Amino acid sequence: MLFKELIDYLHTIAPNNLQEDYDNAGLIVGSPNTAIKSVLICLDVTEEVLEEAKSLGCNLVIAHHPIVFRGLKRFNGSNYVERVVIKAIKEDIGIFAIHTNLDNVFYQGVNTKIANKIGLEKIEILQAKENIQYKDAAVGAGMMGYLPEPIDSMVFLKQLKSSMNINSIKYTALIHKTIQKVAVCGGSGGFLLAAAKRKGAEIFITSDYKYHEFFDANGTIIIADIGHYESEQFTIELLHEIISQKFSNFAAHCTKIVTNPVKYL
Ligand SMILES: [Zn+2]
Repeated sequence: MLFKELIDYLHTIAPNNLQEDYDNAGLIVGSPNTAIKSVLICLDVTEEVLEEAKSLGCNLVIAHHPIVFRGLKRFNGSNYVERVVIKAIKEDIGIFAIHTNLDNVFYQGVNTKIANKIGLEKIEILQAKENIQYKDAAVGAGMMGYLPEPIDSMVFLKQLKSSMNINSIKYTALIHKTIQKVAVCGGSGGFLLAAAKRKGAEIFITSDYKYHEFFDANGTIIIADIGHYESEQFTIELLHEIISQKFSNFAAHCTKIVTNPVKYL
């Protein structure tokens, strides 16, 4: 089976044209006509992940984050992006990224996975793109949903730590005694705060908040920053489910390397 056959299937789940303008999802390294040996799924491609792929006999890495976002002018290995691309080419390992297109879909999307982990019901896209639907569902950023019943806010945060496997949560004042209506966005979702407020969410769970941005909670919503890697880590599991439910003619491995560059003490 060729790279392109797997890629075509993944694009039936999350079409490449649903990615954001700044994104660079798609086949970044390698020829679509290469035969798949086996694949390795990760959030971030690093040199260590490529070593792991090599040791497992994988010749295709499927990553959430594209390793290359901007044009590269030199290939002398002075930064990690160049080193990863050079190594992938030398080792004959393809790199495919499925990023904001997977964020933006409703069925089997990144935020749907997060909503399921948290136990949200009646989910809907938080900020839908106008006039775009895919498989009869809205397309867009973030997700909105309800807990089966209201939960004490602190109890909810503690449950969130355990269900999302988080070391620490940065959060604003618990202005609501209980929580039922929850907005989520994997990765850097700060741009969705207004949408979360508009929809009446009691808490907005995302990552990459800066100090001053926490003030934007403004006494109307609770902001919970759970960390970028932490918020998206189950995307690896999601991609593994998507691939292994459809294909049994090659092995799909999940990386065992924690690529989170942020450490906690
Ligand atoms: Zn991300």
